[in-house]
Amino acid sequence: MRRAILDDMRVDDEHVRVAVYRSFATTGTAPAAKELATALGTDTTDAVERLRRLAAARHVVLDDDRLVMAHPFSAVPLGFSVMGTSTLWWGGCAWDSFAIPHLIDGEPDVLVATRCPACNAPHAWVVGRDEPPPGAQVAHFLVPVAHMWDDIVHTCGHQRIFCHEACVDAWLTQTSHDRGYVMDLTTLWRLARGWYAGRLDPGYERREPAAAAAYFTEVGLEGPFWGL
Ligand SMILES: [Zn+2]
Ligand SMILES: [Zn+2]
Repeated sequence: MRRAILDDMRVDDEHVRVAVYRSFATTGTAPAAKELATALGTDTTDAVERLRRLAAARHVVLDDDRLVMAHPFSAVPLGFSVMGTSTLWWGGCAWDSFAIPHLIDGEPDVLVATRCPACNAPHAWVVGRDEPPPGAQVAHFLVPVAHMWDDIVHTCGHQRIFCHEACVDAWLTQTSHDRGYVMDLTTLWRLARGWYAGRLDPGYERREPAAAAAYFTEVGLEGPFWGL
């Protein structure tokens, strides 16, 4: 009996998760707990409790019970905008911004825009599903995978795209950060392409660490930064 009740709760939390993701996908913004409660036929207190459980399971990120992120979507600016034909998103980080066209049915390619954190130069790419966008820029990720969830908003805020390696070095000197991991745009696109597959659909399960490691290897990442 107890087991049956727990299973029911899990199904309801999944309804909330899917509602959050679909709202972000179609409107570009996070739904308020009150809107979720109305849509799902429950009260706001219940919706908030479910959001807290989803946050504990790393499906969403909350700040004071407000939705901040549901990867790859973000309710706050983290250096990127992503423009589709009918929706505009805060792109989260470099990884998340490049992932959005792979997830949204009606948006097979999007305009991703950012500025180099070192020199402020503007950069933009049309990112689609079939091949990586051309460009000699590089992505620099500051926080190793083992610590990405220590402060996920900080982590995503420091997964940025720079003009070239020299701008990464300049930024590391300016900010006194240790070097993280640098990859080209092709590797970033491959990383983003399948990472969030299925996340808009009911029944999604996050990858276990071993499956994540296999994915990172397959897309061409290497070394202890990725837990490999
Ligand atoms: Zn630069
Ligand atoms: Zn991110």
